[in-house]
Amino acid sequence: MRVDIVSIFPKMVKAPLAEGIVARAIARGLIDVRVHDLRDFTTDRHRVVDDEPFGGGPGMVLKPEPLFAAVDSIRESRGTKGRSREREAVILTSPDGERLTHAVAERLSRQEHLIVLCGRYEGVDERVRTHLATAEISIGDYVLSGGELPALVIVDAVARLIPGVVGDEASVSGDTFASGLLDFPQYTRPAEFRGHAVPPILLSGHHREIERWRRRQALERTLERRPDLLDETRMGALDPEDAALLKELLTKSRK
Ligand code: SAH
Repeated sequence: MRVDIVSIFPKMVKAPLAEGIVARAIARGLIDVRVHDLRDFTTDRHRVVDDEPFGGGPGMVLKPEPLFAAVDSIRESRGTKGRSREREAVILTSPDGERLTHAVAERLSRQEHLIVLCGRYEGVDERVRTHLATAEISIGDYVLSGGELPALVIVDAVARLIPGVVGDEASVSGDTFASGLLDFPQYTRPAEFRGHAVPPILLSGHHREIERWRRRQALERTLERRPDLLDETRMGALDPEDAALLKELLTKSRK
């Protein structure tokens, strides 16, 4: 997958991409991430990227020309300018966009090319939304000062879903949300820490029992913290053993 991120603070975007799983995926050629300075796509001497809002009001707005020019240039360098761009998404980071969820990350992970535009100030000229972006993504109901952190969140969430990026596939498919349930509790050595012991079942070596315990914990935790994840469709998809467990948990919680 190819990812292009356009920002007025390219250094801020590059630093986190140099560590951890995403950095390893880049080094192994699983994803190719390029970071572009929006100012490189201005044509004036002062490299101006923002201007006052028409109609007045506080703050500045990112001008449309550099953002359109950046996307044109990225497409040109990839040879996709004017071609069909079926598997390309131009993502505008925006607090009023579609909320980033596991399902959205999965959808994006199936694209060949993501272009992520980072807003700043009061936001971007509306024509960027209507005539350039193909998706608008929010990482949550709060306002950040720019789209750089959201761009990194999107890239991280999407990269994990690309085959090979996370060493052990089972680790991704069992993650919270991917499995439809929250993850079960994890413990590591020491078996007793400050008087708090690890659940004995985990030390028992009974794989089948351990699996059952984990499944039960995952169901219990989901029921407690995120009952919204256990909607009708999900309930229908539960295997008989899970369904029985859940029924048991529900009866218990009603008592
Ligand atoms: N005036 C705008 C907020 C602009 S914040 C409004 O009220 O909607 C500046 C930029 O930060 C936005 O253009 C966007 O790119 C980014 N941003 C802020 N919060 C975000 C969020 N929750 N998700 C994604 N991007 C966000």
